[in-house]
Amino acid sequence: MLKGIGASEGVGIGKARKLLEKPIVYTDKAPADTAAEKERLRSAVQTFCEKNEARAARMDACGADGDILRGHIAMLSDPYMLSQMQESIETGVCAEKAVETVCDMFIAVFSGTDDELTQQRAVDVADIKKQLQKILLGIEDMDLGCLPPDTVLIVEELTPSMTVELDRENVAGIVTERGGRTSHAAILSRSLKIPAVLSVENALTLIPSEKELIVDGGTGEVYTDIDDATKARFLEVQKRFAEKAAREETYRGKPTATKDGVPKKLYANIGSHKDLEAVLASDAEGVGLFRTEFLFMDRAAMPTEEEQFEAYKAVAAGLHGKEVIIRTLDVGGDKDIPYLNLKHEENPFLGFRAVRYCLKNRDAYKVQLRAILRASAFGNVAVMVPLVTRVDELLAVRALVEEIKAELDTQNIPYKKDIQIGVMMETPAACMIADLLAAHADFFSIGTNDLTGYIMAADRGNADVGYLYSTFDPAVLRAIKRIIAAANDRGIPCGMCGEAAADPHLLPLLVSFGLDECSVNPASVLSVRSTLAELDRKTCDAIAQKALSLESEAEVSAYLTSL
Ligand code: PEP
Ligand code: MG
Repeated sequence: MLKGIGASEGVGIGKARKLLEKPIVYTDKAPADTAAEKERLRSAVQTFCEKNEARAARMDACGADGDILRGHIAMLSDPYMLSQMQESIETGVCAEKAVETVCDMFIAVFSGTDDELTQQRAVDVADIKKQLQKILLGIEDMDLGCLPPDTVLIVEELTPSMTVELDRENVAGIVTERGGRTSHAAILSRSLKIPAVLSVENALTLIPSEKELIVDGGTGEVYTDIDDATKARFLEVQKRFAEKAAREETYRGKPTATKDGVPKKLYANIGSHKDLEAVLASDAEGVGLFRTEFLFMDRAAMPTEEEQFEAYKAVAAGLHGKEVIIRTLDVGGDKDIPYLNLKHEENPFLGFRAVRYCLKNRDAYKVQLRAILRASAFGNVAVMVPLVTRVDELLAVRALVEEIKAELDTQNIPYKKDIQIGVMMETPAACMIADLLAAHADFFSIGTNDLTGYIMAADRGNADVGYLYSTFDPAVLRAIKRIIAAANDRGIPCGMCGEAAADPHLLPLLVSFGLDECSVNPASVLSVRSTLAELDRKTCDAIAQKALSLESEAEVSAYLTSL
């Protein structure tokens, strides 16, 4: 049995299929028949276009943006590029070499310019080169969008773009060598309801291809030697999991409230306007976190104001009056956006990210804020600022919003006049000055994913310090309590949109501390509602008092999970 981090609950049973990048190696021999070599190239280009068209359609269908791949097709369909390659073959080189020569020439030209957009095209051409050479050499990489049934995918690291491409129907489980419980890949696998175990050391070496595996995404265990008794045991666990889901279903359509009748808001987190359907299907009462950075990924340039406006408007209007809290661009840390050309940093999580980046790139930030404000005319929209550490950051965002409101007024463009501006509470600094921030914020939302890492000084994706990264640590619990108290004292609402908001063992404490809103993965909405319905304030206060008297994470965790 191998052990990793249980990142997405459920039991998956299936065959191991590894995703490995194969190297591109060829020897450049002069072709015997130049015309046949040119035809071999033309046919590879055709295959490239067909493959990418199909991939783009699959990405569109599952909520990702396939247009970047269509951009690749357009580039390669440009007759100039293909004719250059064919001319190169006529000089006596093979098709692989011709692709390399011509693509490298384009890469050099594009990357030598000052224009960011043009530089990004160099990245696109490098990708085209790799794919085209692989087709010529008959190197088949695993097509994530088309997998055999009952696949347990073994990868080094699951990237968000891989997750969106996944053939969900056929993936029974995911095992990775890297990544933590709150990595974005983990969050996505939970929303896809695929059992996932992350950070299994040397998984790609230790697990043979085609081996039957059992992946327990709750405990973080991966079974490689399965006898009949083990399989029967896990089929039973699978059954119990399905029964629990059926019990939770009975809470669909019911209001969210504690056992003693205190109403709570239960919202969902989304990463794209295309997740709206999942939110509506989840029975969430709004969107507590719209991670807008995904709108900026998987493309060659910033989305325009119009594109952003359409995406925000789609959610605002589609929620029919329910609230949507749109978080402004949270770039940096583990979320890279290549065309922004962020500098390499020694400590990206302590670096130039989120609101820090946005306030230094005011023009681009104004485009986003303007798109959000325009969308606010179509629904119940609020703005949330990530990674705040100082009051002046919040004030600067407020000032920008006021500037944009004045512009919209002169242009007679409607927007929600009293749009609420809240702070994502996810840094120790924000926690320490929660009272000062509460004086200027319309609401708080606690981002426990980052807050836990920053309070514990433990990288959320690093398995070696994973033992420190826990919301149950006395330090983190005190931070959460302090933030909620500051909001309560000032009379502003406080929510939580980090993954911990869906943890049934933490919920009694959150109820006791006075949290108003939980925003969770759409897949967890009914589970949270059913847990809250069993909690009353008096019992929760007693649980919180006891939990806060304990000195170690291990004791807190043992106590809360024993209840
Ligand atoms: C968080 O930090 O808790 C959060 C919700 O934001 P993200 O996971 O996108 O950093
Ligand atoms: Mg965060």
